[in-house]
Amino acid sequence: MNMKAIVLHGGGGNYSYEANWKYPEQPDDWAIVKVAYSGICGSDIPRFASTGSYNHPKILGHEFSGLIESPADGSKLYKKGDPVAILPIIPCGECENCVIGGQGPFHCKNYQFIGSRNDGGFAEYCAIPEKNLLRLPSVEALRAGSFAEPMAVGLNVVRKSGFKPGKTAIVFGAGPIGLVTGICIKEFGAHKVIMVDIRQKNIETAKSLGFETADLSKININEIDKVDYAFEAAGSGKALSDAVSILKPEGVLTVVGRDTKDTVISLKDFETFMRKELQLRGCWGYDVRGELDFLAGIIARRSKELEKLISHAIKIKETKNIIDDMCARKFEYCKVIIEF
Ligand SMILES: [Zn+2]
Ligand SMILES: [Zn+2]
Repeated sequence: MNMKAIVLHGGGGNYSYEANWKYPEQPDDWAIVKVAYSGICGSDIPRFASTGSYNHPKILGHEFSGLIESPADGSKLYKKGDPVAILPIIPCGECENCVIGGQGPFHCKNYQFIGSRNDGGFAEYCAIPEKNLLRLPSVEALRAGSFAEPMAVGLNVVRKSGFKPGKTAIVFGAGPIGLVTGICIKEFGAHKVIMVDIRQKNIETAKSLGFETADLSKININEIDKVDYAFEAAGSGKALSDAVSILKPEGVLTVVGRDTKDTVISLKDFETFMRKELQLRGCWGYDVRGELDFLAGIIARRSKELEKLISHAIKIKETKNIIDDMCARKFEYCKVIIEF
C-alpha cells in the first residue's frame, strides 16, 4: 500500500508532493495513525526553504491529529478508529537527563522527534509510539487536536512563568504560539490578558478569540497599564525592551520567541531590569508528563478558539505550492493546516 506525502529530499527548497510514497513501517509499541489534520509550524519553513532536516528523504509535520489505523500490537489502550493527537518528542529514557535529572523530555541528550528526525504528519499515515498519543474525547475535537503540540508548548510557557490566578499578563506576538500561550494563561485564571503585535492580521485574530489587544505599530508601550507577567512570543529584541518597561516591580518575563539575530539589551533596560528586580525565564519545547488529561481537556474546551487560529485549510496536493508561498512570505497567515 502507498500513500500521499510531502517529502523533503534535502535543504534549499528540495521537496515534492508524492502520490505513491511508501507506507510507514510499524515497530513494536508503535501505532499507525491515519492523519486527519496536520498544521504547518513556523519551524518547518526554514527546514523546507534552507536547512533541510537531519536525514533525507524525510516527511516533516509535528502538529497533527488523526484516527488510529493500526493500534500497537497487543494494545490495551487504543483500537482502530480512536481519535488521537500526537506529541512529537521521543526521549531516549537512558541518558543522564532522562534517568537521573528528571528534567523534561526536551533535555534528553539523544531524543527522536516525529516530523524532523522521524517521519511526521505531512502524509496520509504516520507511525507513532503509543506513548506519544494523546487521546481526544471525540472526532469533533480532531481539528483543534492538531494544536496538541503548540498547546503543550503554551502550557509549558505558563508553567515556567509561575503564573498565579488573578494576575495580569501581556503577550508580545499574536502568532500561533503567542495565541496558544494566551489561551493557556486564561486557563490559569488570569484577571486580564493583553495580546500585542504590529501586524494587523494577527491583532484581528487575537480579537476574534476574545483577547484585549493593542497595536504597537500605532501606540507606545507606556500607554498600556503595567502587568505582572510578560511573555515574549515575537522573537524580537524590541519586544524584550517593551516587556522590561511594562512589567510591574518583581514581574516575570518569560521568553518563548526565537530571534533570528543577536538580542542586545540597552544599558537603560538593563538598569530597569535590575531596579525592578524582574525575573527572566526561558522555555524550550514542552513537558506534559502527568497532565495529558488536562491538556486534552483544554483542547476540547477551547476547540472553538483554537479553530479560529486556522487561517488556511488546504489539501495535500496543493501543499507544495502553498509552502513555496509561505517560504517567500507571499501571503499573511496564522496557522495553515493540511486537511486529509
Ligand atoms: Zn511546532
Ligand atoms: Zn535521554
